[in-house]
Parts: sequence; C-alpha cells; structure tokens
Amino acid sequence: MQVPASFQYRKATSIEHALTLLAEYGPESVVVAGGHSLLPMMKLRLAHPEALIDINDLDELSGIRVQRGQLVIGAMARHAELLASRDAGHHFPILHDAERVIADPIVRNRGTVGGSLCQADPSEDLSAVFAALRAVLLVRGPDGERTVPARDFFVGPYETVLAPGELLVEIRVSLRDSRSAYVKVDRRAGDWAVGAAGAVLTVAGGVVTEVGIGVTALGAPRFVAEEAEAFLTGGPPTQERFAEAGRLAAQHCRPAADQRGPVDYKRHLAGELVTRALRRAMERN
Ligand SMILES: Cc1cc2nc3c(=O)[nH]c(=O)nc-3n(C[C@H](O)[C@H](O)[C@H](O)COP(=O)(O)OP(=O)(O)OC[C@H]3O[C@@H](n4cnc5c(N)ncnc54)[C@H](O)[C@@H]3O)c2cc1C
Repeated sequence: MQVPASFQYRKATSIEHALTLLAEYGPESVVVAGGHSLLPMMKLRLAHPEALIDINDLDELSGIRVQRGQLVIGAMARHAELLASRDAGHHFPILHDAERVIADPIVRNRGTVGGSLCQADPSEDLSAVFAALRAVLLVRGPDGERTVPARDFFVGPYETVLAPGELLVEIRVSLRDSRSAYVKVDRRAGDWAVGAAGAVLTVAGGVVTEVGIGVTALGAPRFVAEEAEAFLTGGPPTQERFAEAGRLAAQHCRPAADQRGPVDYKRHLAGELVTRALRRAMERN
C-alpha cells in the first residue's frame, strides 16, 4: 500500500486563518480541498508538502449564487453542487454538460471546482470550460485580493499563477445572452478526457459577436482555441464556418501521444470536437 510522507495537518477556520497558517508553515505548505488530486499525488510521492491546511470548513468559500450580474461559484463548491445548481444550468448549460462527464458520483461529491482549477491538470475539464466562459478568478493572499482572467491563470501543466500563500476564493462568470455546450470523448464513462471542447456563443443580428472555445487534453495553449475564436467573431454562425473553426483548432493545437492515442488522432479529435461543440451550442436557444 502506498502511503504519503509524514506531514503536519491544520484545519483553517476562516480565510484569514488559512492565509495565516500558509504564511506560518511557508512555501512547503499547501491547502487541501477535496483531496482527490492532492492525496493520490502524495501517496505516489509526486507531492510531498510539509503541511496540509484543510479549507473544508470555510463557508466563505462555498456556495453558488447569482450576484450583481454574475454567476459566482465558491472555490469549495463541489462538482456535485455545480451539477445540481439550477442557476448554473440555466445560464450556462456548458457547466452541466461538463459536470455530467467528470469522473463519477464519489469524486463529484468531494472534488471541488477550485481544486480542479488549481490542480491545472492538462486534461482537466473545468479549465477548458471556464476558459471558454472567459471567467474571472478571485484570488486572496497576504497582500490582499486580485482578480485573474481564467485564460491567464494557467501557466503550464500543473502550474498556475498562484503564488505560495495565495488562495483561490471564487470564480465569476458574467451573465449574458449566450448559448453553450461541452462535448467530451473518453475511453469509458467517468474517465479523464481523450479530448474535449466547449463553446460559448453570443449571436446578435445574424453574426457571432462573442465566442469562447475551450479545449482540454489536446494541447491547446492555455486551454483556448484562439485562432478559431478570431475566425468566427464577426461572421455568421454557419455550419461551414463552424467546420472551418474546427480545422483551425486542429491546426493550432499541440497534442502529445500517450496511452489515450497518437498525435494524428488527437489532432483530428480537436477539430471534430470544436465543430461539434459549436453546433450543439448553436442548437440551444
Ligand atoms: C478517479 C478520478 C477521476 C477523475 N476524473 C476527472 C475527469 O474526468 N475530469 C476532470 O476534470 N477531473 C477529474 N478528476 C479530478 C477531480 O475533478 C478532482 O476533484 C480535482 O482535480 C481536484 O479537486 P480537489 O478539490 O479534490 O482538489 P485537491 O486534491 O484538494 O487539491 C488539488 C490542488 O489544488 C490546490 N487547491 C485546492 N483548492 C485550492 C484553493 N481554493 N486555493 C488554492 N489552491 C487550492 C491544492 O493545494 C492542490 O495543489 C478525477 C479524479 C479522480 C480521483
């Protein structure tokens, strides 16, 4: 049986307390949310923090609400809560599309939205979803609060802009008249994506006025298909243009071959999934 190296454990009672504990234990301390990514990594000795700061009791980080024209998702909201949220599903069906295919009920009951983003796994579904939604993340640290666009949050695989001692507090998505969808290919139900894509479209006067396209597991820089977005913006939302957007997404992604498939297959998948996500989003009214 794999066991982690020894570590200190402290339970935070407020955000301020969590920040104090992170400062007290220094850069070798990390917060634990659902623990579904961190604990397996500790057992495999891929992560060996000296102190775990448990943020599970922090009500300030929980909940999903509509507030001042935004959907606000607490960093500690569980996947299952996001899947159950009427507000989330009503305004952004992409969130429910994605949550339905993330892992299984056991993981979804415990794993958190904030933990998913902070883990920055290159196959994480919600990273692509919030990049497509152009969400903004609220971060708090010893020097106060700052906001970071989701698209600027990811530095590379398993790396974000969070500095040691900083906490992700909430995710904010501006409400707008949009259509959205998420499509994923996995090897079996509940598995990590072979590839997945999400699209968020705003159409007015017969043209696409805003579009976000997120892609995961297929080597899209920062989880975004930027060239496809630029191509679609300002033109009519036609099937042909969606196909061309898929072609651009495939051309500009940099997938890596692994046990889920070779590069050519993944590149093909990127194009297909982007086109399908756009079509499915457009079909929604
Ligand atoms: C069997 C299995 C299948 C899975 N399948 C999928 C899948 O199909 N798709 C998918 O996207 N994911 C999948 N996951 C991952 C799942 O979504 C995890 O819940 C998620 O990656 C991590 O969330 P967590 O709350 O467990 O974070 P934790 O494991 O607690 O933390 C992960 C990292 O984020 C940091 N962190 C957590 N919260 C914060 C915060 N508020 N501020 C700063 N840092 C923070 C931690 O310090 C740690 O470094 C799967 C996991 C498992 C175990």
